[in-house]
Amino acid sequence: MAKQRIYMDWNATAPLLGDARAAMLDALAEPGNPSSVHAEGRAARAMVEKARRQVAALVCAEPSHVTFTSCATEAANHVLTPEFRMGRAPLVASMLYVSAIEHPALREGGRFAADRVREVPVAESGVIDLGALERLLQAHPKEEGLPLVAVMLVNNETGVIQPVVDVARIVHAHSGLLVVDAVQAAGRIAIDMGMLGADFLILSSHKIGGPKGAGALVSRGETLMPVPLLKGGGQEKGHRAGTENVAAIVGFGAAAQWMVEGLAERNAAIGALRNRLEEGMRAAASDVVIHGAAEARVANTCFFTLPGLRAETGQIAFDLEGLALSAGAACSSGKVGQSHVLTAMGHDAKTGGLRISLGPSTTADEVEEAIEIFSRVASRRKMAGEAA
Ligand code: PLP
Repeated sequence: MAKQRIYMDWNATAPLLGDARAAMLDALAEPGNPSSVHAEGRAARAMVEKARRQVAALVCAEPSHVTFTSCATEAANHVLTPEFRMGRAPLVASMLYVSAIEHPALREGGRFAADRVREVPVAESGVIDLGALERLLQAHPKEEGLPLVAVMLVNNETGVIQPVVDVARIVHAHSGLLVVDAVQAAGRIAIDMGMLGADFLILSSHKIGGPKGAGALVSRGETLMPVPLLKGGGQEKGHRAGTENVAAIVGFGAAAQWMVEGLAERNAAIGALRNRLEEGMRAAASDVVIHGAAEARVANTCFFTLPGLRAETGQIAFDLEGLALSAGAACSSGKVGQSHVLTAMGHDAKTGGLRISLGPSTTADEVEEAIEIFSRVASRRKMAGEAA
């Protein structure tokens, strides 16, 4: 009998939650366009607005501050722009500062010209270098416009939680605007947008058990907004034109609500499994390096390097053994390259890293099986003489 595969790549995408699937099926049965005034349209509108409340609750924001997009990447391209409006008045962000460990969705700089993007370095631990940020913002030419800073709350490869409250204090002391990529934080840690001090927050549905094809830009208020990326029919109060993907948005909302409920208990259970996994990995291969292990990390992520085992080789070896994990950033796992996160942390990025990420339905048996697979892959590496 074929062995059950083990899915441990939740940071790449999380399996669709039952609640999200059920809500989506209801939404798919609804024929109306949410902008239509008839009963069918109003029913679709009610579904979108319920999802807006659910997504807002995930990050303690006002529902009216949630703009739905097609994904987090679109939300990033929407908000990473030199052009903002404060009410009707134009406001210019003249330079974008992104941390070196940002996801490519932000590192690419959105709508900024390449020479208007500066990188904020991180320490070896994978934590953003606050002193370097301070120095960069001190040197920012204020007369040209505001500094716009983009940092992630949780890194997608290491799971390391970034000191966003401190980042916000520095950014606001320099009259800048702060965009926080909360894609990997949502559903993994409690998020209060106001307490974080974020001006904008980016979310993705498929990382929290909702469907692919929905994301959100959450703003601190309604007065200061980026000039829209998609112009047209005026949906989403004119901030994002295009008929709403009702079913995907509804699934996103249902997943957000599911994630808010029982977060602490779920995290404790996932954290215990991750710790057992790392204990087993260390026992099987004492030379395994677990990146960011000394820092505050989300409970579900383990990013490691096995000396002598290149990430791309390792990924295939684990896959053949029935374990789905990622080499480096999952979004680019089809084209395994060097991890920019490891490079930014000052590690040998040639060997690369492998990421195991767990989720709410991961079981203790799967973890034990994963340890055995790890042990086999690690010992084969030595037997094959791959060790450096
Ligand atoms: N930001 C982070 C931290 C991510 O991990 C990802 C996806 O891997 C994204 C942004 C992009 O999300 P989406 O797939 O919704 O565009």
